[in-house]
Amino acid sequence: MFDTMNKRLFCSLSLILLLILVHSSHAMEDSTLYRSTPSYREIIERYERLDSSSPYAKLVPYGKTDGGNQLHLLVLSKNKIFELKKLKEMGILILLINNGIHPGEPDGINASLLLLESLLENDGKNIPQNVCICIIPVMNVEGALNRGCCSRVNQDGPPEYGFRGNDLNLDLNRDFIKADSKNMISWIQIFREWDPDVLMDTHVSDGADYQYSMTLIASQPDKLYSTQGEYMKQVLSPALFEKMKEKNEEMGPYIETLTWNLPPDSGMKAFLETPRYGSGYAALFNTFGFISESHMLKPFAHRVKATVDLLHSLIEVCEENYTDISNVRKKARKENVTRKTFPVNWELDKSKFDMIPFKGYEHSYKKSEVTGMDRLYYDRTKPYERNLLYYGNYIPQDSIVAPKYYFIPQAWEKVLDLLRLNGISLIRLEQDSSCSAEVYYLDEYSTTENPYEGHYVHSNTKVKKSTEIIQLRKGDFLIPLMQEGSRYIVETLEPQSIDSYFNWGFFDGVLQQKEWFSAYAFEELASSILMENVQLKKDFDALKNTDPSFASNSFSQLYFIYKNSKYFEKGFKRYPIYRLMH
Ligand SMILES: [Zn+2]
Repeated sequence: MFDTMNKRLFCSLSLILLLILVHSSHAMEDSTLYRSTPSYREIIERYERLDSSSPYAKLVPYGKTDGGNQLHLLVLSKNKIFELKKLKEMGILILLINNGIHPGEPDGINASLLLLESLLENDGKNIPQNVCICIIPVMNVEGALNRGCCSRVNQDGPPEYGFRGNDLNLDLNRDFIKADSKNMISWIQIFREWDPDVLMDTHVSDGADYQYSMTLIASQPDKLYSTQGEYMKQVLSPALFEKMKEKNEEMGPYIETLTWNLPPDSGMKAFLETPRYGSGYAALFNTFGFISESHMLKPFAHRVKATVDLLHSLIEVCEENYTDISNVRKKARKENVTRKTFPVNWELDKSKFDMIPFKGYEHSYKKSEVTGMDRLYYDRTKPYERNLLYYGNYIPQDSIVAPKYYFIPQAWEKVLDLLRLNGISLIRLEQDSSCSAEVYYLDEYSTTENPYEGHYVHSNTKVKKSTEIIQLRKGDFLIPLMQEGSRYIVETLEPQSIDSYFNWGFFDGVLQQKEWFSAYAFEELASSILMENVQLKKDFDALKNTDPSFASNSFSQLYFIYKNSKYFEKGFKRYPIYRLMH
């Protein structure tokens, strides 16, 4: 074990060595970017300088953020064409690199500036011909402005950095599907307009200790569906790991252990990124999503270098495969238009596993000086390389049969706004009418006790279905399923889906009963309702005979009759979005 002095000396020496190495390969690189992360103003000034000094780079302000600032997009184009339509016509692949969604994890912010420096040197000789590189310098602008030394307690540098939460204290990497923040609304405008083929979101990991400086989340292949998932699994993801090896920066898979707080050799599983996360959201629009997770315990300089290597590797892989990537996406999107069933709610497949090579550190337990109990520690003097248990497959728990249209009354404006923001085609009804539709009743759900990302979130939602005649009013909307965004529509509008708008609480109004009865005044009416309805009387008596708490509670008995009478409101727990099957 190092003592603190030795550890510092060791880190300083490795930093000097690394800087010498880096300088010998890129003489022009700004070495300050390996020591500290610039302030938000400095970052934007650097991007503005790139915009004005290079014909290959264009910085575009793009929408507002919660704190009244602007989001920016840097577009790097070898042929100096910045018009999206032309780039798409030319078959140019669009790669979007997103930085600073968690400004306390600034490796990608620095790495992107270093990447741009090296791509632009020698009159842009290294800019790829067939890949247009789009970079968001900092997504969580206000988080970056909220700078301090200490919020990342286990992270080895830089000395100062931004904060994870935004101005609403939301984690933007849980906001993709619900878009509570203005930052996210602006981000989605960029995402849906530029429609990137590939997305890289840059982060720094927490969790276990191991040898790798960089780990990668590639969007979980099963969840990408077969066409795209296979290509991710067989081609894109392995190519990235190979490129990193060639750069002497061997990368590991993102580490999520089977049991929280246990070391990797206890077994690992693939990370399931639902649509609230960047790569999970991107998968709904057939964008290949990646998340870089450099390792918090490695010195900042090394983490930045590993992130630069990964960005270069990704660009190389995109350039080498740009036609295939584009063709796979086109095919997957066509499948979305005609898809009849949609798998949702994925669970780890415990029947399939691989043994994957892994470079870790041996762990052990010793007595904690704080608690006096056993504590886990990793022994860096004992590195190991061996095959570890890895569960990489997920299976869907639910399969949704697609309706032909969803019907949304115009009152649900926030939902309609989100659909529009995400480029979903809506049909506005020009006159009143009625038709037969499938209606859901929200039968079961659980709700978090404490707010999560600004919402009391529901989960384990189950619905009961009935077919009813519904009224459609002029100004209401139909959403046809036969469109490329069908996955987004199903994931958000089917209440059972994990990140559905119901589960995020957008429809909580229907969960509250609006009218009640006064027991003393309802007594006589309740009695006559029972007399007139033989079946109800039978059910009522049966309950009384079998359920002692019902039998001893007069209010419950009256409520049972009220609930099963014509006086009970029809909208209670009735999901207000209907499924038109024809
Ligand atoms: Zn992060």
